[in-house]
Amino acid sequence: MSARVLIVDDIDVNVRLLEAKLAHEYYIVLTAFDGLSGLARARSEQPDVILLDAMMPGLDGFETCRRLKEDPLTRHIPVIMVTALTERENRLRGLEVGADDFLTKPVDDHQLFARLRSLTRHKLLVDELLQREAQGRAWGIFEAPASRDSGTGARVLIVDDHDRNCDRISRALAAEHLPFSLSEVENLGSAAGASLEIVIVSLSMRMLDPLKLIASLRGKDNSKFLPILVITDEGDTDRARRALDLGASDIITRPVDLEELAARVRTLVKRKRFLSALRARLDQGFELAVTDQLTGLHNRRYMINRVRSFLQRAVMGGETHALALFDLDHFKSINDRFGHDIGDLVLQVFARTMAGNIRPSDLLARIGGEEFVLLMPHTGLAEASEIAGRLRRIFAETPIILPRGGTRFMATVSIGVSVNLPGEETEQDLLKRADLALYQAKARGRNCVMVYEAPAAPPAPFLAGLAAELAAGLAEELTPGGAQSLSA
Ligand code: GH3
Ligand code: MG
Ligand code: MG
Repeated sequence: MSARVLIVDDIDVNVRLLEAKLAHEYYIVLTAFDGLSGLARARSEQPDVILLDAMMPGLDGFETCRRLKEDPLTRHIPVIMVTALTERENRLRGLEVGADDFLTKPVDDHQLFARLRSLTRHKLLVDELLQREAQGRAWGIFEAPASRDSGTGARVLIVDDHDRNCDRISRALAAEHLPFSLSEVENLGSAAGASLEIVIVSLSMRMLDPLKLIASLRGKDNSKFLPILVITDEGDTDRARRALDLGASDIITRPVDLEELAARVRTLVKRKRFLSALRARLDQGFELAVTDQLTGLHNRRYMINRVRSFLQRAVMGGETHALALFDLDHFKSINDRFGHDIGDLVLQVFARTMAGNIRPSDLLARIGGEEFVLLMPHTGLAEASEIAGRLRRIFAETPIILPRGGTRFMATVSIGVSVNLPGEETEQDLLKRADLALYQAKARGRNCVMVYEAPAAPPAPFLAGLAAELAAGLAEELTPGGAQSLSA
């Protein structure tokens, strides 16, 4: 997995060294030699990860990081702070200002690449979601971008068979989270449910294989995005790397520095909540994108897709699905007489009345101004026409009550019904035939149901007739006498 990495460091040799290492692993490297130009490059180039030196003259790494995390244009880009080995205070400060991770100098190659891989993976996910969110905002689906959370108050599961270690970590986290150990839950499956926000796994466990545990958490739907913080023994770099490759989110080395642990947990929880909030907004946005605002029914886009997928399956299974197309009668004159608001009210009453009288398996949508579609899966023509007749009657008997004064009036609907023919066809064909039937219902005087029966000679509206003639002519040209066999 390649990625674009921005290196910000004031010492030229450091930059060149890192650059060579990264380029060798096919990362694309961008560089900046001080905090300010680092900020500028991050904004304009949108790298996937930033490697940021803590100690720089002028704007130091901490302040640079704080500004990166404040700016909506750069706050989603993971930052790895690079500090000197002994500077514990600095590492903590780095995490406090929002760094996602840090490395100590001299930089260990394995750690560097393991962390880059893990952060790049996270970044790709965020990019994908942010892009969809931006699209949603452009469509007016979302109001404002998802905001960041404090990262406290999380349910933390600690998986370690060493009771004293477990207690120590639990006590350290209890100040701002709700930690619990494996012995306090029935089984891991239930713990990995919706409410758990992070898992801490000790790699030196004997009770169960920690690497297997990580792999299995990543493999399950309800825990595949759960942050996993791994505790590893100093020097066990090989297994630490494997843990990261299996999908662990972060690593901390023993002896565990409790403040560092708390800071890392906070960062991971923040990240998790940011992603969850984005995802929830996308789901909500999706819901809005397929819903008609006036009636709360599904909209045309959704219905077309549903009909299409039913028809695709019908081609293989040979099932019959029915479709009813509704068009309110003389709707324009309702608008003209009572006003557009009352027209809207009629649409809402119609939607509510229909929705309350259809089977759970049937699907109702508003596909146009005063046009609705009812998809009746696994339903034949006779049954569908009966259902349509019943719905027509119910609506005709439902009074529309004007809000002021309580005057009431009645409205009616005309309905065309069709079913899919064996071996065909697209949703447009099915809709087209329902529309032909609806046209006949209107012609018959409205407030009635017509079904489309496959006719011997199609009732050719001008264009359809022309198309049929052309097709017949073409068939004859291709195979002399072929027109006959076509009609047979
Ligand atoms: P017919 O019986 O032949 O169907 O006549 P109609 O008047 O119902 O049909 P027509 O297609 O001439 O008019 C439909 C009207 O529906 C025109 C349009 O102004 C109105 N309309 C479309 N969408 C809405 C809406 O969301 N609210 C309201 N109030 N009116 C709408
Ligand atoms: Mg109409
Ligand atoms: Mg109408």
